[in-house]
Amino acid sequence: MRLSSALATTASLTLLTAAALPNAAIAASPANPKIGATAVGYGGAVTSVDSTATAVGLEVLRRGGNAVDAAVATAAALGVTEPFSAGIGGGGFFVYYDARRATVSTIDGRESGPATMTEDIFVDPADHQPYDFPEARVSGLSTGTPGTLATWEAATRKWGTRSLSSLLQPAAKVADKGFTVDATFRQQVADNAAAFGQFESTSDLYLPGGQPPAVGSTLRNPDLADTYRLIARRGTDVFYKGQVGADVVRTVQHPPVAGQPIGTWAYPIRPGTLSRSDLAKYKVNFPAPTTSDYRGLTVYGMSAPSSGGTTVGEALNILEKTNLARTSKIQALHRYAESTALSFADRNRYVGAYTSQAVVKKLLSDSWASQRACQIDPAHALKKPVPPGDLNAQGCTPASVGGPVELGQSTTNLTATDRWGNVVEYTLTIEQTGGNAMVVPGRGFLLNNEMTDFNFTNTQAPASDPNLPGPNKRPRSSMAPTIVLKHGKPFLALGSPGGATIITTVLQVLINRVDLGMTLPQAMAAPRASQRNTAGIQAEPAFHQQYGPGLEALGHTFGPDVAELGAATAIEFTRHGGLIATAEPVRRGGGAAGVVRSHR
Ligand code: GLU
Repeated sequence: MRLSSALATTASLTLLTAAALPNAAIAASPANPKIGATAVGYGGAVTSVDSTATAVGLEVLRRGGNAVDAAVATAAALGVTEPFSAGIGGGGFFVYYDARRATVSTIDGRESGPATMTEDIFVDPADHQPYDFPEARVSGLSTGTPGTLATWEAATRKWGTRSLSSLLQPAAKVADKGFTVDATFRQQVADNAAAFGQFESTSDLYLPGGQPPAVGSTLRNPDLADTYRLIARRGTDVFYKGQVGADVVRTVQHPPVAGQPIGTWAYPIRPGTLSRSDLAKYKVNFPAPTTSDYRGLTVYGMSAPSSGGTTVGEALNILEKTNLARTSKIQALHRYAESTALSFADRNRYVGAYTSQAVVKKLLSDSWASQRACQIDPAHALKKPVPPGDLNAQGCTPASVGGPVELGQSTTNLTATDRWGNVVEYTLTIEQTGGNAMVVPGRGFLLNNEMTDFNFTNTQAPASDPNLPGPNKRPRSSMAPTIVLKHGKPFLALGSPGGATIITTVLQVLINRVDLGMTLPQAMAAPRASQRNTAGIQAEPAFHQQYGPGLEALGHTFGPDVAELGAATAIEFTRHGGLIATAEPVRRGGGAAGVVRSHR
């Protein structure tokens, strides 16, 4: 979503209050897709996919809040304006750099499965076949206990300076007053119309008159405003142990199928077993971040149950064996594709909710990177899928074969920093765009379908699959909120949505910036490609056109092109407190980056 011309300059953005934004902001969106994607300045910054949400976060900073406060307020606003990507019905991963202590910490706010979840939850008992993905997704089976609200609470309690109650208010205001529907929002509804049409609570909100809302119309969500205010008054217990949680559980166990659905849905809508005791027992975790050194930088990422940190880290360690700045562009991209294919093979075999610290350490070790990097031939692409490495072997010893293809375009990401130098990188999601398609009746938010991030059956046979469903288990994620330090100080913070392509997008922006001579805005805008250990590289058309012939000459093949990969946000920290805040100039309708001050 783009900034309007009224918000085109950083300076004007800083003058507006959150309350003034919703109706004014998006309607006047200029044709120029560059507006709003980059802001340069000082004193703090916020970048997200959405101008209203970014403005909410900037306002928190302007009033003296810190990066954590701003991130939580921004995320709450995204729950209103980006409801198909994130919200209190979902989960996410929060990475925090504390400037005073010079430490990086993380919160795992991933959804967890019900206590009753069995390994075969996504296998049809009638024919013993795994459900089709849409059948599994639009069901109560796919919903795990949401972790988003618990993440906000933990972050504000540990590191924030404002109450969660106060940080929910601007978002409640946006939900009450409404915001202007843009083309991206409308398209997301249109893509989900059949699923949304099955549930009255969802179609009442998002299919007014049975159709996706018109571009330029105002969308209000008073139920969500009330839910935010109820939580603000009563605390998060009202969600995890109270009435809101009871409504979540009722929706999962008795999907609110409409008496007269709009459109048809090809599958039965199955109930789930998530219970009030699952919600009452939910806790966020605080895993140690993953770390890897890359050309003098220290890269901090998200550990299990996300595979983001280990996979980005392993690929960087493999890439570090070559001086990418000195090779040709094609050779650098060849190495990039090979490094991710190898790292994805290892991720699929070894990374899941219960991956031990010893395995995380091994995957991120330089010796492991050497064992994997030595398989790369500068003149010929490896045959895909490449097998995972054997953790007990020495040298280049391939084992059996790799894993499934995953692609998503849901989820959202934000980056925030404050005048004290604290930094937040936060990726949050409800899994598919539109989650499980059920708005909790009377509460105004969609439920996640995060449990479908589990593999439905063993993808690693005869070896075991680390990402099969299990009681209370959290599915493996690809979310990769990343903070990079240089000489112990923030240099870059970045993250993206995009399912498993999150990992390659984060990696590609990193190497574009660090190795390939691009500025951060250039690194973000550059065409993307993703090799996740599948036969063909998945690429945006511009990438395929530009680099396809060179890579094909080395034996790479391309799968069908995809219109866009990712919707990243990032902040670079320059000298003397300078900030370059960036969002996507074009992808997902363009994002919104703002700084507190444009001058020192
Ligand atoms: N559920 C996905 C994950 O945790 C993210 C979904 C997406 O970005 O499309 O990796």
